[in-house]
Amino acid sequence: MHIHARDENGEPTQSAEIYREIKEEIENRCDVIFQPSTGGAVHHSPQERMQSLECGPEMATLSTGTCNFGTDVFMNNQVTMETFAQRMLELGVKPEIECFERGMIQNALKLAGKGLLQMPLHFDFVLGIPGACPAQLRDLLYLSESLPDRCTWTAAATGKNQLPTAVAAILLGGHVRVGFEDNIYYRKGELAQSNAQLVERVVRIAEELGREIATVAEARRILSIPQKKEK
Ligand code: ZN
Repeated sequence: MHIHARDENGEPTQSAEIYREIKEEIENRCDVIFQPSTGGAVHHSPQERMQSLECGPEMATLSTGTCNFGTDVFMNNQVTMETFAQRMLELGVKPEIECFERGMIQNALKLAGKGLLQMPLHFDFVLGIPGACPAQLRDLLYLSESLPDRCTWTAAATGKNQLPTAVAAILLGGHVRVGFEDNIYYRKGELAQSNAQLVERVVRIAEELGREIATVAEARRILSIPQKKEK
């Protein structure tokens, strides 16, 4: 469950305290893999962005490169990447490598080579961001085929590309991310009622296509995350 926090005024925040509150509320209701963003919003500094790592998550995102992001720049230079990866290693947080371009795969593998990331890596291909890689099927094919064996991947795409990209990922053996971060429409002209509605649709499609839905324990196994001890 990939999360971006907001403060009491509805503004994006990377506060560990607010992430911790959200995490507790969710965990009181269901067992999920909680994954805060370390991307935050483009105006957050790297120091602000990495605060979310301190909420005790099993996973967190790690963007391994810089790209244009609409009219802004999403900045992740070598120092930022290494600092984030180092802290995740110390805290035992499994990174989801957020990858907006092909070069970001290479950057992640370089971090693994330096011992800052542990193989097998899990990638999330975020496609269709204005200024970065588009969400055509050939883009997803190229990115997913560029990963070393044993690495796992998820695909996410913005707006109208969300559903076709999710279906393509299901067919290619990947995993999917759907929800309001990337798309707020259920179909053209019709707003989605909830994240759950978007998830339920993709579950129905996966089942029709013969891709079974993982339990949380199976998801941890697939992602090489240690199983949680019973409370
Ligand atoms: Zn995000």
